[in-house]
Amino acid sequence: MRYGGIEAGGTKWVCAVAEQPGQPLEIVRFPTTAPAETVARAARFFTEQGPIDVLGVGAFGPVDIHRDSPTWGTITTTPKPGWGDTDLTGALTSALGVPIALDTDVNAAALGEWRWGAATGLDTFFYITVGTGIGGGAVTGGRILHGLLHPEFGHMRIPHDRARDPFDGICPYHGDCLEGLASGESIRRRWGRPGPELSDPAVWELEAEYLALALVNVICMLSPQRIIIGGGVAKQSALLPLARRRVRELLAGYLRAPELTDPDAAEGYIVVPRLGDRAGVIGAIQLAYEAQEAAASSSGLSGRAGG
Ligand code: ZN
Repeated sequence: MRYGGIEAGGTKWVCAVAEQPGQPLEIVRFPTTAPAETVARAARFFTEQGPIDVLGVGAFGPVDIHRDSPTWGTITTTPKPGWGDTDLTGALTSALGVPIALDTDVNAAALGEWRWGAATGLDTFFYITVGTGIGGGAVTGGRILHGLLHPEFGHMRIPHDRARDPFDGICPYHGDCLEGLASGESIRRRWGRPGPELSDPAVWELEAEYLALALVNVICMLSPQRIIIGGGVAKQSALLPLARRRVRELLAGYLRAPELTDPDAAEGYIVVPRLGDRAGVIGAIQLAYEAQEAAASSSGLSGRAGG
């Protein structure tokens, strides 16, 4: 059995093939351009690597991940130019002709970290990526959280002190939601330069403030046993220590767990992905693998015959 995986992100796609879950053989990364061009580039990679039997896709959203829906696999209301109402799984099915297992890019990354990374052995945890945009995935009680649509942690509303930060935010839907205030793109637009070029401590204290406000909401609602923060912005070394401290301060001792009150324990509570930049694509392969396993025992995997 050969598995394909695509982390179909809004900024870049990561494609990989594997014969064993958790062990990608070849990985390729390329920027997300127009839908047809991006799908064609992915299809070319899989053709060059030899046939795959099943494909797992972790897609940026919002995306319809409910398999019974007539618009399953469609990227819906994204503000990304050219991608609104794109039938992603239809295009991939036409190009590759294999069954597809689909979830969000961040749920796929959470799955990768759950099976092979920083969340092994846990049954409730939270994964967030802070990059060009912000997205989050969660496992609760041993299941990936989906619900009505799928979680959109990046668009949660957080307090915005305009005296401290007059920046309006950049989300086309909400302005100053979490992504609007704290994504890599918002950092670039607020400060005039991208994050890696910014060393002013005020930049990272403000970023840590927004991140901590969001994480406190998640901690209070999901009670995660661990929080994994991926994405390019999280690579800024100053950020995680500041965020851990602000989470502790904002919770103010109300939740009595060492992870939330003891600075040393917090270092193992709010962590970076153990799989690094490969979490999403390893998770996508895992989606394919687990769908295939489910299909072998019942009927958990369905393609979309006819495209
Ligand atoms: Zn928003």
